[in-house]
Amino acid sequence: MVNKNKIYLSSPHMSGGEMKYVNDAFNENWVAPLGPNVVDMEVTLAKYCGVKDAAVLNSGTAAIHLALIILGVEKGDEVIASTFTFCATVNPIVYQGALPILIDSEPGTWNMDPVQLERAIRDRLQKGKKPKAIIPVHLYGMPANMTKIMEIANRYNIPVVSDSAEALGSRYMGKSAASYGKMSILSFNGNKIITTSGGGALLSDNEELILKARFLASQAKDKAPHYQHSQIGYNYRMSNILAGIGLGQMEVIDDRIKARRYNHFYYKETLGKFEGITLLEEPDSAYFSNHWLTGILIDPEITGVRPGDLIRDMESMNIESRLLWKPMHLQPVFSHCPAYLNGTSERLFTQGLCLPSGSNLSQEDLDSVVTAISRSLKNANATQKKYVPTYNPVRILANMRAVL
Ligand SMILES: *Cc1c(COP(=O)(O)O)cnc(C)c1O
Repeated sequence: MVNKNKIYLSSPHMSGGEMKYVNDAFNENWVAPLGPNVVDMEVTLAKYCGVKDAAVLNSGTAAIHLALIILGVEKGDEVIASTFTFCATVNPIVYQGALPILIDSEPGTWNMDPVQLERAIRDRLQKGKKPKAIIPVHLYGMPANMTKIMEIANRYNIPVVSDSAEALGSRYMGKSAASYGKMSILSFNGNKIITTSGGGALLSDNEELILKARFLASQAKDKAPHYQHSQIGYNYRMSNILAGIGLGQMEVIDDRIKARRYNHFYYKETLGKFEGITLLEEPDSAYFSNHWLTGILIDPEITGVRPGDLIRDMESMNIESRLLWKPMHLQPVFSHCPAYLNGTSERLFTQGLCLPSGSNLSQEDLDSVVTAISRSLKNANATQKKYVPTYNPVRILANMRAVL
């Protein structure tokens, strides 16, 4: 049975409340890059993430770029980043003419391995260069091990920019994942937990840095009666219309997190029963993931299938899934970058995939995904009996924990 409606990996999920803000913008003719929605969105985000200030921008990539400019990253500098990520984490390093230094993952969180991080810093120092910044990523919503990463960063006095593009609403040690580091960034791209169709933000507890970001993001206009520029600026601001969409989305952020966490714990309850399938899980109660995407690993020795087989089989049932991010050190464009590796990200890349994880999936959709996967495993292993997803809803709810 092929699903009539395609089941997507992570599709936009509007609340309906967005139109109120967008209509306000139209009624007041604030169809401009600035306006009241922009200000409100900045206040709302900063409050939600527990930081002093935020600048909303036209993408998460722009936010990383501005963070690096503000930290003074220039041609010939080195910047450390996770290798297991989307290219947008690393591209802005190259925009500045700097060299990305890539760090492998730890197996527990799939995020930056503190051991490799320290090894890299020592090695770069020995080679005569002090890295200008460290960009850990909270991938798929899972917070990185920020206790250890911040401890190392502080010891070597290197600023941290946390890439929280996938982690709005995720928390570590009771604090927003997006509150760690000197600055952090968010993305509101179409596939993220909330979306403005395209957009991003730069957050910090240092209001001066955010003022600087707003200045640079609107063409770096000096205070003067005429247009005067004493440095190069960018056109990176979020428009008042899109900020309106963001305000409508922020009204339902906690529901969106609940829905994504439900997906994850449903998958754990059902797929967790299959030998050879494991999920990316919160290592302990210090971690609270928004579970933006549920990632699984498939041991081909045990299951007899590879991620590519599952993806193909699901596609034939009109279900979208995707391999995990291909590590940056394996990308042709970054193959020259020094990388400090332990084998984890390469293993994740060959064994893992992301399952449909949108907040708008129905129980029927989720059941279809699990049935499709069970069928693939069955095809590979003819002895397995017919599978119907069974689960204990009470246990799923208990595992979910409330939004903190
Ligand atoms: C989406 C994403 C970004 C970039 O965000 P855009 O808004 O698409 O520019 C950066 N880092 C990670 C890890 C992302 O997933």
